[in-house]
Amino acid sequence: MTSNNQSSSSNGPVLQNPLSNAPSTVEWMQHLELGYAEPPRPPTICFGCGKQSSETIKLSRCGKCSVAAYCSRDCQVQDWKTGNHKLACPSYRRALTIRSPYCEDVHATIRNELFARARFYACPYAVFRTTDLGRGFLFLQSDQTLQNMSLYTCKDITGRTITRSVLIHFLTLGEFDSEVCKEDFELALVRTKLKELVDGYDKEKEVVLLFKFRCGHMSLGKAMLVPDYKICKKLGQDYYAENPTGALQLNLDEM
Ligand SMILES: [Zn+2]
Ligand SMILES: [Zn+2]
Repeated sequence: MTSNNQSSSSNGPVLQNPLSNAPSTVEWMQHLELGYAEPPRPPTICFGCGKQSSETIKLSRCGKCSVAAYCSRDCQVQDWKTGNHKLACPSYRRALTIRSPYCEDVHATIRNELFARARFYACPYAVFRTTDLGRGFLFLQSDQTLQNMSLYTCKDITGRTITRSVLIHFLTLGEFDSEVCKEDFELALVRTKLKELVDGYDKEKEVVLLFKFRCGHMSLGKAMLVPDYKICKKLGQDYYAENPTGALQLNLDEM
């Protein structure tokens, strides 16, 4: 991770989240922006008490991040004092710099933060599915934008509470072609590199990942498995026996 001296933008230097110093667990090989990003909307509710803005309730923004909005000084002080906004403020400021595809290093930092939290859950599952189905990869889909995933709190930039989760599915290339690409043909844009990775990874040491966010940000990479392949296999079998649907739902806000 080398984001200390990179990336100045019109919003100033990119500020770090506490998780930014976590070791990177994934080597990313390809990125793609499908450009589904929605235009930013101004907040209409107080980040402190949740009151809706109106004729009589005017919101003013946090001077540091220019995102969080408050109906009163009390709400702002309270939100800062309880630690909510103190932690989240830098991540809101960073979220404003996410203007795909021109901020690849910010995207990389966010992906690394996410995977620093998720690695132990995915690997045993991947190992088991690989043993069961043959070579393949983990397809991770998030119902959230990269911007929402980047926040160090579960309130989006409008102040709305969000739930962030990732749906994880182990797929073979055959399943990718016949099932996934048929519904989402743009995924075929990464197929060449995906095939190269699926054909080449060391199944006792690595797992191939394809991550897609709702905003259209896609990343293809390879993660190191936790060291003991046999333990992973056993955990995967235990998990899968209780969850035969073949997909795994991780709720990041509960981790
Ligand atoms: Zn308020
Ligand atoms: Zn702020």
